[in-house]
Amino acid sequence: MNEKIQTISPLVDQFSRTISYLRLSVTDRCNLRCMYCMPEEEDNLETLVKSGKFLSHSDLLSYEELLRIVRLAVSLGMNKIRLTGGEPLVRKGLVDFIHNLNKIEGLDQIRLTTNGVLLSEYAKELYTNGVQHINVSLDTLKAEKFKKITGRDRFNDVWNGLMIAKDLGFRIKLNLVAMKGVNDDEFLDFFRLALEYPFQVRFIEFMPVGDKNSWQKTRFIESDTIREMAKSVGTLTPSEKHYGDGPARMFTLTGADGSTGSVGFISPISHHFCDKCNRLRLTSEGRLRACLLRDAETDLKSIIRSGGTDREIVDSIRQTILNKPQGHMLQDELGVEEKAGCSGKMSRIGG
Ligand code: SAM
Ligand code: SF4
Repeated sequence: MNEKIQTISPLVDQFSRTISYLRLSVTDRCNLRCMYCMPEEEDNLETLVKSGKFLSHSDLLSYEELLRIVRLAVSLGMNKIRLTGGEPLVRKGLVDFIHNLNKIEGLDQIRLTTNGVLLSEYAKELYTNGVQHINVSLDTLKAEKFKKITGRDRFNDVWNGLMIAKDLGFRIKLNLVAMKGVNDDEFLDFFRLALEYPFQVRFIEFMPVGDKNSWQKTRFIESDTIREMAKSVGTLTPSEKHYGDGPARMFTLTGADGSTGSVGFISPISHHFCDKCNRLRLTSEGRLRACLLRDAETDLKSIIRSGGTDREIVDSIRQTILNKPQGHMLQDELGVEEKAGCSGKMSRIGG
């Protein structure tokens, strides 16, 4: 029998960081094959599951299991959830799951990170079920290049989804991974996009994540270089930091005609933000992970499926937080090696 877990003071790790934000990778499956994330050409789901490239359905935590974990995490003081993946919108029943998440008292924010391919289909339901802030990943504004980067011809679907979501009133962060020789010729267009549309446009430094990724040192561009490029489009003024901005350094971009937009830089490598990290991740295999870029994980699924009590789950959450490393070492490793970083798959960890 599960004992009642008391709400306790905030979750603080041994480096005085308060952990309040849980990212759930609800599936490792995806309808795109981004070159830096899951470049396999194979498309047959059965073959992908058999070969272990995708998890089988029973390897994923069920929605009931996820709800139990979230309830316990919220009872400990967590108040923000992000649903990610893989592509979260490909998992059946996601909107019902969100509907149930919304009933959890103390959970203030439910957010979603998506590639946008299915956004036009789900935007309205998401909005009415309380997900009104989304992050959409879009690395190029050109349909042909989109196909090269993602392996799929779905640019127009993403763009339509973005327009529908904008018109519904979503707050949208548009994230692009900055890659030299891939999309650096479009950075100025992305700055202009921020002036034209109500999207926060955020440049993410390309990270050496995953065991078979396409990361190369020569493709890496640091945020400060991109920031300099903005000068040909307008002036950047640092924005006040707001709760929910996360690790991005945010700026107001003012164009020559006086128009303004919001742009940001996420610089895990050049300006790492580990000292302010407030997050814990649950991978699609049901493992708690305290750092995106460190491989240590706690197998929560095994605890749950072997009849673990709420107390045992809570203890695992606490222990994982206590073991949260002070930071990643990428900036050191990058100086020495071409390939560094964690070996976990980004689609299972959730980015
Ligand atoms: N499928 C969803 C999407 O693409 O938005 C959610 C999952 S995806 C793994 C989450 C984010 O991680 C995306 O914005 C993606 O661009 C980013 N990402 C994946 N691999 C990356 C890498 N090596 N470096 C930087 N960002 C990466
Ligand atoms: Fe899919 Fe997102 Fe990975 Fe691209 S980055 S393959 S959209 S999970």
